Amino acid sequence: MKAKAAILEEFKKPLVIRYVEIPPLLEGSILVKMVSSGICGSDIHMVDGEDPRVPIPIILGHEGVGEIVEINGEKKDLNGEILKRGDLIIWNRGVVCGECYFCKVLKMPYLCENRKIYGINRSFKEYPHLSGAYADLIILEEKTEILKLSPNTDPDVIVMAGCSGATAVHAIDALGDNLLDKTVVVQGGGPLGIFALALAKFQGAKNTILITGSSFRREIAEKIGVDMILDRNMSAEERVNKILDITYGRGADIVIEATGTNKAVPEGLRFLRKGGTYIIAGVASPQEKVPIDFYEVSSKNITIKGVWVSDAEHFKKAVSFVEKHQDLFATLITHKISLDEINYGLDLVRERKAGKVVITY
Ligand code: ZN
Ligand code: ZN
Repeated sequence: MKAKAAILEEFKKPLVIRYVEIPPLLEGSILVKMVSSGICGSDIHMVDGEDPRVPIPIILGHEGVGEIVEINGEKKDLNGEILKRGDLIIWNRGVVCGECYFCKVLKMPYLCENRKIYGINRSFKEYPHLSGAYADLIILEEKTEILKLSPNTDPDVIVMAGCSGATAVHAIDALGDNLLDKTVVVQGGGPLGIFALALAKFQGAKNTILITGSSFRREIAEKIGVDMILDRNMSAEERVNKILDITYGRGADIVIEATGTNKAVPEGLRFLRKGGTYIIAGVASPQEKVPIDFYEVSSKNITIKGVWVSDAEHFKKAVSFVEKHQDLFATLITHKISLDEINYGLDLVRERKAGKVVITY
């Protein structure tokens, strides 16, 4: 038996389908048959060689759901359940060491110095080789954090909890406050932004506002009941004024950047009230710098907080949130494709012509 994998062999080039050997399973490893994987906006930066973490050749794909084929040894999931062949599972894309300063002393495992990420920083040349979700089989190593899913869970929907869902939970948790009576602006209507809006809404935010230039993302936001949608085609002045209008001239309590671009930041600062908090959650690759007016930051007493990836807690919360609202999150999926169509799927995401693109196997 061989695995079928889509491999990035050269940056800026299409992925290539190859049939590859399945290596023996080391102690504690699990062989998983992929059922669903999700294309993430960050995959585009990886294909283009803009993400310094990515080696080539590599099997990309860091959002996955699959069925256990074989386990070498005993392995429990995050709820303490013993995993067995045939179980439907989802896993945390990041595998942390538990030993470094950030894991052990600061208890911020998302900053682990040895964090290995399926489909992002694991070369196809190194064991277990099958370490990305864009293949019909993946090997999960011993320290992988796994959740067993109920057979009623829709794998195509739950798969998005693994990256954008978990990062959105991290962004909201980073506020460290409840959202009752708060006005929350989210810049960017991709999966990360929609998740953040849904979380803010379910946590009782008074006003949830999305900034987007895309008509179908607007439709998705409407379905999840976002209170106000401001178009990117308006002038920045108009957008700022609309937010001031509904906040008694003060501005938003919280702004969340979920666009993936530095360019959103100067405008995001203008949306904030004095003493407000700006969360940068979408920017995930180095890019052109933008000028920031730090007088605006100090005179408004603004907190700017970066949010990097997610940990087991965020992951588990995201899975439970999506499981509870599967119908809602199903509306994010605009395309289901096969592994053979992976390059088409990446193009859809690159051209921002899709909500969530899911690969089914
Ligand atoms: Zn991602
Ligand atoms: Zn660590």
